[in-house]
Amino acid sequence: MESPASLEHRELKGGDFWNAIPAFRGVSRDDFLDHRWQAKHTITNVTKLLAALKGSVDESFIRDAERGFQSAPMAVRVSPYLLSLVDWTMPYEDPIRRQFIPVASTQLPDHPKLTLDSLSEQDDAPVPGLTHRYPDKALFLALDTCPVYCRFCTRSYAVGPDQVAVEKLSIKARPSRWERAFEYIASRPELEDIVISGGDAWNLRANQVETLGNALLDIPHVRRMRFASKGPAVMPQKLLTDDEWFRAFVGVVERGRRRGKDVALHTHFNHPSEITEITRDAMNRLFSEGVVIRNQSVLQRFVNDTPEVMTLLVKRCSYVNVHPYYVYQHDLVQGTEELRTPVRTAVELEKKVRGVTAGYNTPTFVVDAPGGGGKRGVHSYEHYNKRTGISVYAAPAVKPGQYFMYFDPVDTLDETEQWCWDDPVERERMCEAALDAAREA
Ligand SMILES: *Cc1c(COP(=O)(O)O)cnc(C)c1O
Ligand code: SF4
Repeated sequence: MESPASLEHRELKGGDFWNAIPAFRGVSRDDFLDHRWQAKHTITNVTKLLAALKGSVDESFIRDAERGFQSAPMAVRVSPYLLSLVDWTMPYEDPIRRQFIPVASTQLPDHPKLTLDSLSEQDDAPVPGLTHRYPDKALFLALDTCPVYCRFCTRSYAVGPDQVAVEKLSIKARPSRWERAFEYIASRPELEDIVISGGDAWNLRANQVETLGNALLDIPHVRRMRFASKGPAVMPQKLLTDDEWFRAFVGVVERGRRRGKDVALHTHFNHPSEITEITRDAMNRLFSEGVVIRNQSVLQRFVNDTPEVMTLLVKRCSYVNVHPYYVYQHDLVQGTEELRTPVRTAVELEKKVRGVTAGYNTPTFVVDAPGGGGKRGVHSYEHYNKRTGISVYAAPAVKPGQYFMYFDPVDTLDETEQWCWDDPVERERMCEAALDAAREA
């Protein structure tokens, strides 16, 4: 028997919910569903954020956010849709606010082992913006802009405009750079699978989606492609009202299918409240065209790190025909220490989520350990010391013989270990001990 509580995943936010935000009160449904309206009213600086939230939050919160953005590696970019999903009566606790609007008062110092490109994507890049790490697949960063900017972005080394805190690598959507990437892919017959990310495909023009999609489909050995986009989570309206883009995308999927090639959409929902009736309609439109949709989430403290929220996310994604694929352990990213969780949280969550629904809708919890070993199942560590927070992974199919360490946030450790992390000599000793333990395992 189902208890009523377990059907909560079907209760999607509907109606004119944006009316709760003073700045969007009286905005018609037609306008709110119009992707151009969403893009035009997207907030790109703190002053405008202040203006939009006037009357919804205290001045003190806005000051806190202003200071939060000053030290952040990412620019401000928040869609009206996202702003409307935040419960502004509790801005500090709200899980959507936490992901997009940093506040200075909760910030923690970065982990001492943090580097800007923590995944070393640039080290495995034969062409700027093309990472070839795994034998048969490559990651193509097509552009450097997104419909919104996320705090947890792993690619803050390249995505979005330069910030006070960070100057970025250029991966603009330039034909010459794309050509070099296509040539490289064409020259490597082992490449069957191309991930198109960025930046975000939502920001490609319809003709760019076609050019890119068709160029890759024309390479005989490319068999699979995925367009990775935050768009469905932050601006699903585009799928309902940008017909030119929708047709271009579905056109690439169809052309692929006729050639026996799989083209999918990978979304990025992190919290169940990011899935509304608008999302459902958007996903239905894709589903009715036969598009396969999979979701990748980032595990974040106080956002989706409880079994209740993660279960609800998994069930709600499944309900709108989005297959939960991965939940990522949060990478070591500048200015986001308070969003990270220890590895043990991911291990516990995986245990509790598995069995809730269909196996093919059960995400794999992975950690992309710093140094370029690629994704590993969180529970597959060679060694994990919960006291020092160091986990060690091996990646025999990617970098045989090497070990990769991940580091739990220091503030989640006992005081003694926090002291050890403060001391550069102790730090190295703990890492050496962890590597030794892994070699002996
Ligand atoms: C994640 C990733 C891929 C795709 O990996 P899957 O496990 O197949 O989803 C490919 N290349 C790079 C560099 C990646 O980080
Ligand atoms: S949409 Fe993706 S690439 Fe863009 S900022 Fe967010 S996580 Fe980074």
